[in-house]
Amino acid sequence: MSASYLDNNATTRVTPEVLEVMLPFFTEQYGNGSSMHSFGESVSRAIRRARGQVQALVGAEHDHEIIFTSGGTESDNLAILSALEGAPRRREIITSTVEHPAILALCAFLEKSKGILVHRIGVDKNGLLDLEAYRAALSDRVAIVSLMWANNETGAIFPVEALAEEAKAVGALFHTDAVQAVGKIPVDLKSTAIDMLSLSGHKFHAPKGIGALYVRRGVRFKPQFKGGQQERGRRPGTENTPGIVGLGAAADLALRHLPEEQSRVRAMRDRLEKGVLQRVGSTILMAGTSERLPNTTTIAFEFIEGEAILLHLSRAGIAASSGSACSSGSLEPSHVLRAMDIPFTAAHGAIRFSLSRENSDADVDRVLETVPGVIAKLRGLSPFWSESGAPQAEAFKPVYA
Ligand code: PLP
Repeated sequence: MSASYLDNNATTRVTPEVLEVMLPFFTEQYGNGSSMHSFGESVSRAIRRARGQVQALVGAEHDHEIIFTSGGTESDNLAILSALEGAPRRREIITSTVEHPAILALCAFLEKSKGILVHRIGVDKNGLLDLEAYRAALSDRVAIVSLMWANNETGAIFPVEALAEEAKAVGALFHTDAVQAVGKIPVDLKSTAIDMLSLSGHKFHAPKGIGALYVRRGVRFKPQFKGGQQERGRRPGTENTPGIVGLGAAADLALRHLPEEQSRVRAMRDRLEKGVLQRVGSTILMAGTSERLPNTTTIAFEFIEGEAILLHLSRAGIAASSGSACSSGSLEPSHVLRAMDIPFTAAHGAIRFSLSRENSDADVDRVLETVPGVIAKLRGLSPFWSESGAPQAEAFKPVYA
């Protein structure tokens, strides 16, 4: 049985075209980009080309605004650490409660070990940022605002262009973790006030372990690693040439396929979403009224456990993801759904389906044929669910609170 892979926000498959472009850089073109011979020159040409391809995908003005990194986590760390080092008198950061751990864990570390004041702006139940709280936190004490372009769990989109303008007004740098946005929605940095942007190759069909940080020309960048002159000294270390070339090829393909994300991928996602909501009762669509990525839907199935749903879906050949993290034996709903104040009875049963252009209508059909049966079966086993009357929310609580 072939599987239906609907977990593309976790990672994507390397497209065959991307792999093909990468392969020669393991075998024939293995030179070091810094070497003064033909092996080095062809590699350095390939890196230049890839930089231009990434530049085009994000609409940067200059190719040297693109710094290759090992991925989203590194880019996020570099952006924030550089901003703090560049403005030592500004000791505050603004971020949100729904960021990826790459931002949240770093902020918690900076708060604890360096005494940085971190403003974590909350969201409403649709995943929308509390703009009033954001504006109240902005001041000339803020070194950097870091707000994600699109949320990995719900797909909710923050209005980063407008938010960046407001940060600029107080002289703070604006960084966006666009790891989930790039390749799925149009990004044109040159027309915005965004100073830095993180992207990661494995979210758009390039390999894992390669990404980039965009740093607007004129923004002072403080390298966090000490070493050679690669990436103009901003990110030393011999370049990951196969990864960089793969990232470039994937960026090129993503740019060409952007209209398809908005049409075919969105249409598949909408059919899946509507179909599930119609067929299964007691379901809640996460961030349903917000502007969202075209490929993402997270649906909470009340009174059952996400992990149990995933297991049954996996047996039926469907790979999705849950909004819970299983840690130390207790199932905690994700920090994103908790920040959105989703009732625990729903947050525990949240399932994310994230599509890509590699999916087909057959994948959606399989979900629509499988999910109703799985949910009915699990609810039949749940002591908290009663077909005859109201589900027993109170009984659910003591077990999972
Ligand atoms: N930021 C967001 C929003 C993500 O979804 C992810 C990956 O899941 C990351 C950052 C981390 O990216 P990487 O896996 O390339 O380190």
